[in-house]
Amino acid sequence: TGCTKEKTLITDSAYMLGTYLQISIWTEDQQKGKEVIAECFRRIQEIEQNMSVNIEDSEVTKINKNAGIEQVAVSNDTAFVLGKAKEYAALTKGAYDPSIGPLVKLWGIETDHERVPEKNEIDEALKYVNYNAIQIQDENKIKLADRGMFIDLGGIAKGYAADEVANILRKRGIQHAMVNLGGNVYALGNKIDGDDWKVGIQNPYEPTGTHMGIVEINNMTVVSSGNYERYFMKGDIRYHHIIDPKTGYPAENGVISTVIISNSSIDADALSTGIYVLGLEKGMELIENINDVECIIITEDKGVYLSSGMEGKLKISNDTFYLAN
Ligand code: ADP
Ligand code: MG
Ligand code: MG
Repeated sequence: TGCTKEKTLITDSAYMLGTYLQISIWTEDQQKGKEVIAECFRRIQEIEQNMSVNIEDSEVTKINKNAGIEQVAVSNDTAFVLGKAKEYAALTKGAYDPSIGPLVKLWGIETDHERVPEKNEIDEALKYVNYNAIQIQDENKIKLADRGMFIDLGGIAKGYAADEVANILRKRGIQHAMVNLGGNVYALGNKIDGDDWKVGIQNPYEPTGTHMGIVEINNMTVVSSGNYERYFMKGDIRYHHIIDPKTGYPAENGVISTVIISNSSIDADALSTGIYVLGLEKGMELIENINDVECIIITEDKGVYLSSGMEGKLKISNDTFYLAN
């Protein structure tokens, strides 16, 4: 009895940041719930408008157009994300590098100009990949030191958006939510029955939505990077969208998927991309040295490697995958 209304599910989806987004919340106030979700989508749109390289007048486009010319004043949003991007570039020794743009453009993965570039084109593009040449002045004025540089926040922006959505939901008093921004998952609070959220880990060999295992979490984010997300095939070779800034080619080191579990989605997003490039050994070593960040690394032979804090926490549901450590 009493006057506590029951919490029910409200869910909505959208297509932004180049991907499918879904926000599900549980609340007793349906009207307020709808408003809160709409506010979240408006915030994501604002982030996209600031940071997309596909929007002609975005701040990042302005920065890129002024490469080697002059500094561009940007919003706190863009300045914050670029600051984080540089921080993670340094931490991963350039495996994650937001100045990867010239190579991303050259390969054009999943665009109408995707192709395997010539070696000399790759060498030329590589000259302009250098996160140290992204200059952040007076907190929010950005200059790319050289003409030809091009920043691309595709490896981090969805993470930032997920954190911002979680912040809005918390501020508006939402205690239970599941946010999925194209595979960047944020599980806010726990389920209404008090259980942890079950988050499926994508099977890299199967269509989106087919899982190889499950992690149970609350108030955490699960962010993955994989060779299955965006790619094209030429002959038997898969050219995917995570580029090794050292070679200029899609990272090929035996890893096919990396999953980061932490409480900050922006950090997890940069790390998922960086660890993918670093590969199993160096990637695992880096994660072991960061507090409160865990990972799952899947290799092409279906080996599953867990960081120490993940031991016993991944339930493998497809037994063609094997726990390798
Ligand atoms: P997804 O966006 O599919 O979830 P990621 O978070 O791993 O995957 O980001 C991949 C995207 O990041 C690419 O599509 C490209 O825009 C950009 N990118 C590719 N290689 C790198 C890299 N080494 N460092 C930073 N960004 C990268
Ligand atoms: Mg991702
Ligand atoms: Mg990423």
